Amino acid sequence: MTARMGTARLGPAERSAALAQMESAELDVVVIGGGVVGAGVALDATTRGLSVGLLEARDFASGTSSRSSKLIHGGLRYLEQLNFDLVREALQERALLLQRIAPHLVRPVPFLFPLTHLGWERPYVGTGLVMYDTLGFSTGLARGVPGHRHLSRRRALRLAPALRRTAFSGAVQYWDAQVDDARYVMTMLRTAAGYGAHVASRAQVTGFLREGERVTGVRVRDLETGTDLEVRARQVVNATGVWTDEIQELVGGRGQIHVRASKGVHLVVPRDRIHSLTGIILRTEKSVLFVIPWGRHWIIGTTDTRWDLDKVHPAASRSDIDYVLEHVNAVLSVPLTRDDVEGVYAGLRPLLSGESEETSKLSREHVVAHPVPGLVMVAGGKYTTYRVMAKDAVDAVAHGLHQRVPPSCTDRIPLAGAEGHQALWNSRERLARSSGLHVARIEHLLQRYGSMIDEVLALIEEDPSLGRPLTGADDYLRAEVVYAATHEGARHLNDVLARRTHIAIETFHRGLAVAEEAAALLAGPLEWDDEQVKREIEYYTKRVEAERLSQEQDTDHEADAIRLGAPDIVPFAAPETNLA
Ligand SMILES: Cc1cc2nc3c(=O)[nH]c(=O)nc-3n(C[C@H](O)[C@H](O)[C@H](O)COP(=O)(O)OP(=O)(O)OC[C@H]3O[C@@H](n4cnc5c(N)ncnc54)[C@H](O)[C@@H]3O)c2cc1C
Repeated sequence: MTARMGTARLGPAERSAALAQMESAELDVVVIGGGVVGAGVALDATTRGLSVGLLEARDFASGTSSRSSKLIHGGLRYLEQLNFDLVREALQERALLLQRIAPHLVRPVPFLFPLTHLGWERPYVGTGLVMYDTLGFSTGLARGVPGHRHLSRRRALRLAPALRRTAFSGAVQYWDAQVDDARYVMTMLRTAAGYGAHVASRAQVTGFLREGERVTGVRVRDLETGTDLEVRARQVVNATGVWTDEIQELVGGRGQIHVRASKGVHLVVPRDRIHSLTGIILRTEKSVLFVIPWGRHWIIGTTDTRWDLDKVHPAASRSDIDYVLEHVNAVLSVPLTRDDVEGVYAGLRPLLSGESEETSKLSREHVVAHPVPGLVMVAGGKYTTYRVMAKDAVDAVAHGLHQRVPPSCTDRIPLAGAEGHQALWNSRERLARSSGLHVARIEHLLQRYGSMIDEVLALIEEDPSLGRPLTGADDYLRAEVVYAATHEGARHLNDVLARRTHIAIETFHRGLAVAEEAAALLAGPLEWDDEQVKREIEYYTKRVEAERLSQEQDTDHEADAIRLGAPDIVPFAAPETNLA
C-alpha cells in the first residue's frame, strides 16, 4: 500500500484493506471524523509510533473542513480582542504550513484594508498590523509572507480599481495565507496512511464498544456495502466537529463538551467581475467580510448566524446571499448582482458552548476532554490551528494509554507532495516541455499535487486522452478525475466535483455540464456499471437543483426543507441508541 513513506494511495482496494485491518486487531487509537482535526490526530498519532485507524462517515472533509474561507490566518479579529496568545499561535502555524509542512498547498495572499474614518483609523489599524507582522515571527522560521504597507487612496485604487472612490479614504495592505481546505485534509490523510494509519471514508460510527464504563472501540457501518463491523481500540478520539454532541449521546450523553453550529455562507464569482490585484477585507457590523482571490474566481464571505437544522447539508438562503452582496457592493463601483454568482457554499462553525468545569480548557478556542476512560473528545478551534488541537488530543490519548509515547513531531513532518516540490517548481518549464502540457497547467498541477504530479503525468503518458481538459470545466484535466478515484479516496461523482476539484462552485452550470464526462471517467476505477453511472449523474443533478432552489428561499427553514428534498447517494445509518 505504501508507495514511499508519507505517500499512499487511497483507492477502493486500499479502503477495503484498511477496514479489514481495523477489524482484525486492537488498535492503539481509532479516530472518529475525517475533517481537518481528525486527519490531524491520525497523522500526529501515527507519527508518534501508535497504531491508528480513522473512520469518516461521508467523504473526507465533507463537513466544515471543505466549507471554510480557506484562509490560514492569525485572525485580525482576535487581535482586536487583545487575544495575543491565540494570534501568535495561529501565525506560528501559518509560518510552518507555508514553509515546511505544505508549501505546495498553502500560499501567501494579500488583503487590502480600506480605511473609512479620517484621523484615528490609520494609526489604529497600522499598530494592529505591526503587531500582526511581529507576532508572525515564530520560533526559528521566517514569517513566510511580506509585511504590511500603508497606501494612499490613489495607490490603493491602482491595486484595486474596482473600489468605489468615495467608499474609502486610504488603505493598508497586509498578507495572510490561503489553502484548498478539502485538498489539504485529503493530502494529510494520504500522508498518515503512508506512515501506516488505516483510513476509510463512508464508514459511519454507529455506537461504542464498552467494558463497564470504559470505551473499548466502536461499531461501524460500512455505508458502501451495508455491513457492520467492530473496531477495537485502546483509545477512541471523537473529532466530529458539529456532530460532537451526537457522538457524545452514543456514550449516554456523559460528555463534557457541547458544540453548537453557526452558519457561514460564501459566494464565488468570476475573477473578471471585480477588477483587483489584491484581496480585500471589509468590516461588517458583526465581524469582517473577505473578498479572496481564488484561481480564476473570487470567494466572498462570510455570514455568521445560528443554525439548528440539517448539519450535513447546511443550506444558504436568499437572505444569506443578499447579505453578502449588499456588504461587498457597499465598496464596489460596479455592484455585483445575483447573476454574477457562480457558486454558493455554506459551512457550520463548531462553536464551544457551556462546557463543564472539569473540561481541560487548553486554549480560548479549543478543548480536549476525557469524559470516560477510553474516550478523548476534541472540538472547537479553527482550521489554521488544527495541528495544535491534534497534538493536544494525542497527548490526552498518551495519558490514557499509560505508556510512554514520544512527543508530537508533526511540526517536522511535511505532507505528501511537499518534498521535492520546490525543485519541481523551479523545473516547471522543463516539465512542460517533456509532458507536452502548457506551463500554466503544470503550475496548476504542482499547486494541487506537489511532487505527486509525477503520478498524474504517468496516467497521461499511459492514456494521452487524459491530458485533455474537461469539457465545460477546463481548469481541470480528465486525468485529475481518474486520479481522484485511484489515489485520493473519491468514491462518488459528488466527491470529485465538490471536493477533489471545485467545479461545483467554480462554474455557472455547477458541474452539470461535466457530470457525464466525469462519471464516465470514474466508471473504470470505481467499477461502476451503466446503472451506477446513471444513478451518480441523477443524484448529482438532483443535488444541484435542490441547492439552486434552496438559494431562492427567504428563510433558513424553507431553504433547509428544499435542500433535504435531494437524497444522498449513500444514505446514512441510524445510530444506535441503547448503548449507554
Ligand atoms: C464559514 C466558515 C469559514 C471558516 N473559515 C476559516 C478560515 O478561513 N480559517 C480557519 O482557520 N478556520 C476557518 N473556519 C473554521 C474551520 O473550518 C473549522 O474549525 C474546521 O474545519 C473544523 O474541522 P473539524 O475536523 O473539527 O470538523 P469537520 O470538518 O466538520 O469534520 C468532522 C467530521 O466528522 C464526521 N462525522 C460525524 N459523525 C460521524 C460518525 N458518526 N462517524 C464517522 N464520522 C462522523 C463528519 O462527516 C465530518 O467530516 C471556518 C468555518 C466556517 C464554518
